[in-house]
Amino acid sequence: MTVKVRFAPSPTGKLHVGNVRTALVNWLFAKGQGGSFVLRIDDTDLARSTPEFEQGIEDDLTWLGLLWDERHNQSRRFDRYEEAAARLKASGRLYACYETSEELDRRRKVQLSRGLPPIYDRAALELTEAEKAAYEAEGRRPHWRFKLEGKRVAWEDLARGHAEVDTASMSDPVLIREDGLFLYTLPSVVDDIDMAITHIIRGEDHVTNTGAQIEIFEALGATVPGFAHMPLLVGADGAALSKRLGSLSISDMREQGYEPIAITSHLGKIGTSDALEVGASVQALGDSFAFSKMGRSPARYDTADLDRLNAQALHAMDYAVAQPRLAALDADLGQAFWEVVRPNLQKFADVVGLAAIVRGPVAPVIEDAAFAAAALEALPETVDETLWPTWTNAVKEKTGAKGKGLFMPLRLILTGQPHGPDMAAIAPMIGRERIVRRLKGETA
Ligand code: GLU
Repeated sequence: MTVKVRFAPSPTGKLHVGNVRTALVNWLFAKGQGGSFVLRIDDTDLARSTPEFEQGIEDDLTWLGLLWDERHNQSRRFDRYEEAAARLKASGRLYACYETSEELDRRRKVQLSRGLPPIYDRAALELTEAEKAAYEAEGRRPHWRFKLEGKRVAWEDLARGHAEVDTASMSDPVLIREDGLFLYTLPSVVDDIDMAITHIIRGEDHVTNTGAQIEIFEALGATVPGFAHMPLLVGADGAALSKRLGSLSISDMREQGYEPIAITSHLGKIGTSDALEVGASVQALGDSFAFSKMGRSPARYDTADLDRLNAQALHAMDYAVAQPRLAALDADLGQAFWEVVRPNLQKFADVVGLAAIVRGPVAPVIEDAAFAAAALEALPETVDETLWPTWTNAVKEKTGAKGKGLFMPLRLILTGQPHGPDMAAIAPMIGRERIVRRLKGETA
């Protein structure tokens, strides 16, 4: 069997780390075994979906390297949903209901006050044609519910193992609203059938839906696909992330300078038994992905881990990969420079500040004028790779300074900062003229 999965976002907001993790796990699972990945835009809600959000989803997935093999919009497939609805109506599984939401609320309250579960009582199944006609004459339009069989629906979940939902404990789901809008439940199943999806991979908040949707697959005479429901994300404090997800959009993370491979490595590995390390590529992440590595406990999303992976990705980045980005930031000072400064990067753009050390301007920090003067006197005529040991030895002899007392003042004078790249490597790149000016206290 060739694996075929889908990621089905609604274009009603920006992608955040929660839904990107779903996209990613689908992608990794499929691409790890040469399968295909479908992008399905769930835009049946025409009022809330926007072309801008849809474009944003495509841009984010492309930037992350999660390319799709097929792409569909639900808004172009309404005829398929009508057809499926007609079949379900004909078989008696989709039935018209006329209750207003106030009436349903009132009934739920009565049920609860009697200690009964607030599930829909199926009163509409008893309506006569005359009663329905009377409602229509009043101007009411029906909404349509799917008649559940009320049984234990079971499946072998790739992430959770044996899973069961008792559809007898659920209300018959509304598939079509009174204004004719198809809610998510039916179109999703129709698409999964038409697109021959082999595995539905999504968050565990969909487990109950799966019970109803398996019944719909069966009612439409289709093969039921495999399922995997992933544990949800929690924050570093262990609290559910669902309410904070809005502030963790991929476009914001992109602006904050995170590397796509750091994001995909992080989201692909949290909640699994793999070490949190950055992958060589998103395909390499797919090659090592397996549901058997995924635990049942929630995946802990900690920005500190992402920061660490981001730095790791930069520290391993080849010059050939970095070069166009360095050029775009006007910070391409050659391969040797890149290799000296990359261990100091947290975000790629930090390189701009490091390039300033080499080409200026740096405002030197001189804490001891006599020390700076002695260092200037000791500066060799030729500044090359041998500069640092020769020069620091000479300064040591002249001033008696050693260890931190020798190296920190030189770093502060040459770079203006207490931390930074390896001085032995960066000092020759600064060049004699700038070193002299900085030793004299000039910004250079
Ligand atoms: N549009 C649905 C959602 O974002 C898709 C769920 C599914 O994967 O079936 O929740």
